[in-house]
Amino acid sequence: GYRSRAAYKLTELDDRFHFLKAGARVADLGAAPGGWVQVALQRGASKVVGVDLLEMEPIAGAELLTLDFTEPGAPDQVKAALGGPADVVLSDLAPWTTGHKQTDHLRIMALVEAAAQFAVETLKPGGTFVAKVFQGGAESEVLDMLKARFDKVKHAKPEASRAESAETYLVATGFRG
Ligand code: SAM
Repeated sequence: GYRSRAAYKLTELDDRFHFLKAGARVADLGAAPGGWVQVALQRGASKVVGVDLLEMEPIAGAELLTLDFTEPGAPDQVKAALGGPADVVLSDLAPWTTGHKQTDHLRIMALVEAAAQFAVETLKPGGTFVAKVFQGGAESEVLDMLKARFDKVKHAKPEASRAESAETYLVATGFRG
């Protein structure tokens, strides 16, 4: 079994977009408890680096780092663990909400931006970036940047994500380098 229900979201996204390939090098940001890591390995990824604030139980074949991805130096630690350019950068990063709407929105945007920045620094040409985003505006700057750097940028909402009404996923394919 999978460690998270979120695993089914990645399964659905990959069934549709086919970005997880045998031998792939994958970074998974906001990986705890590890469902996406399991799916990536099951679909043939040969190098998977998962990062989270929370410690994860080990998963055979994956390298799991306990880090705040927004701390300076964290992205470089992930790059070092990857050992080379990534085929796929995944982000299911989601902050704990404070209940203060504006604060929550800013925190969510900061995570999406950090993940997108990491993706364009880390992907090899042709690579894929998948990120959880939340509806509610101000996402356009990141979106414009991604549209300029990738062949295609789509929004996709997996069935498994229907309950969490505000979330959707961005799938950016064909990184231009
Ligand atoms: N995809 C995962 C799975 O299938 O098991 C579920 C990920 S969960 C929806 C989002 C994760 O983002 C949480 O575990 C949370 O700790 C992590 N997170 C939030 N902010 C973070 C940060 N600044 N650095 C690292 N991880 C963070």
